[in-house]
Amino acid sequence: MTEKSAVRVRFAPSPTGQLHVGNARTALFNWLFARKMGGTMILRIEDTDIERSEARYEDQLVADLKWLGIDWDEGPDVGGPYPPYRQSDRLDIYREYAERLLSERKAYLCFCTEEELQKDRERAQAEHRQPIYSGKCRTINPEEAQRRRSNGEPCAIRLRIPERPIRFHDIVHGEVEFSSEVVSDPIILRSSGMPVYNYVVVIDDALMKITHVIRGDDHLSNTPKQVAVYEALNWPVPEFAHLSTILGGDRERLSKRHGATSIANFREMGVLPEALANYLALLGWAPSGGTREIFTPEELVKEFSLERVTPSPAVFDMEKLYWLNRHYIKQQPVDSIAAAARSYFKQAKLLPESPDPATENWFDKVLALLISSVDRLDQLPERASLIFNYEAMAALAAPDNSETLNWRHTDAVLSRFTFKVLEDDLATERKLTSDQFKKIVNEVKAETGAKGKELFHPIRIVITGSHSGPEFDKLIPILEEGSRLDLPKHVLSVRERVEQFGKARCE
Ligand code: GLU
Repeated sequence: MTEKSAVRVRFAPSPTGQLHVGNARTALFNWLFARKMGGTMILRIEDTDIERSEARYEDQLVADLKWLGIDWDEGPDVGGPYPPYRQSDRLDIYREYAERLLSERKAYLCFCTEEELQKDRERAQAEHRQPIYSGKCRTINPEEAQRRRSNGEPCAIRLRIPERPIRFHDIVHGEVEFSSEVVSDPIILRSSGMPVYNYVVVIDDALMKITHVIRGDDHLSNTPKQVAVYEALNWPVPEFAHLSTILGGDRERLSKRHGATSIANFREMGVLPEALANYLALLGWAPSGGTREIFTPEELVKEFSLERVTPSPAVFDMEKLYWLNRHYIKQQPVDSIAAAARSYFKQAKLLPESPDPATENWFDKVLALLISSVDRLDQLPERASLIFNYEAMAALAAPDNSETLNWRHTDAVLSRFTFKVLEDDLATERKLTSDQFKKIVNEVKAETGAKGKELFHPIRIVITGSHSGPEFDKLIPILEEGSRLDLPKHVLSVRERVEQFGKARCE
């Protein structure tokens, strides 16, 4: 086994909802960096918001990450050298370090009530000032403060921010500086005893020996508070890399308004994990030299570098994701997507819940016929309507077909073709083979003088309802075989279609 490098990164989601593209990209960049550097990837669950955190979201998150192809070396499910990996199991640790900061006078007790703080905030707002803490309890004598605490007076613990600018280095944004006034003394432990994100994140990152904090740039303004905690505890400050915001097509921050944004949404749409991971990697990162866009996970690992992450916002381009998805759909062996594809047909009540081997075999052919025409697997049942939903009346009335139906030879082609397919010797339960079909088409050609699209477009309309579509060689056996299977929705055979078409034409 090769020796692991010292690089340690973490993905630290809060299980308060679905995994969205922004967080999934953060997870992916951490993973790519860890794998590229031969380092360690850690999953830490940040569930200190007890009201909003739910175990089911944690399960969903883990499932979504695995589906995307992201794995981790340490985490709540796999353990590791710095447990526990779920913040709600680490409360004692946070309290211990808060007391240490208190005893070292790096933090102080704050007795301000929520009402007082709210009033301060409102006043600041009215005076167009930053709503920062007044510093009222900063000067309370520590012994006096301890006495008040022992007497049961509710109090929070606040970190004392030094009166000098706070600086840190960010791989994406360069040198960053915040003045101490905008940071103001943050609460690290609430009067309820619950610790605050900006504090716990540092305790965990330091104790878990995280070397690089890679996350969304919505946390950039939290970072000075976190740096202040590292400094107060005399701990080394890690490298930061804040990833750019993801925008929708209208250049507003990507949100539910823009449609699908959660990983579950994309999975349900039949976006393949390879396509989504490939697309997410291109959100704010580009490989060196060139405009290449298609990468397997292995290639991404090889190419990835944090130095090539850009600070400017990334625009989420659904069409490009679909384009990539189409590429991956076409590229994969049909049987590797057959199970996922089947589920859409079951949902649409076109396939039985547990298809028998003959049906499965037939369905694989249906899939092979249609797969190159879709961007997403959920479009398959609609694309399969030429197999499952035949409506001769609709075909005759479709504006799209009217040109073909008015061609000079069309009537003759339709009449000869219909007649030949329904001729007595064929009008039995015997299967119409591709060869028989070809023979008929050739006879129609000879008898009517129609050729090329004059010949094929009308015949296509009779068989599928549309003048364009897949090759007859593949389609005819599918229709014939399908018509003999016991499916929830009967597939019409060629003969049944021709019959229906003939009747509709007479009406
Ligand atoms: N739990 C935080 C979030 O989901 C993590 C932020 C961080 O990575 O520090 O936004």
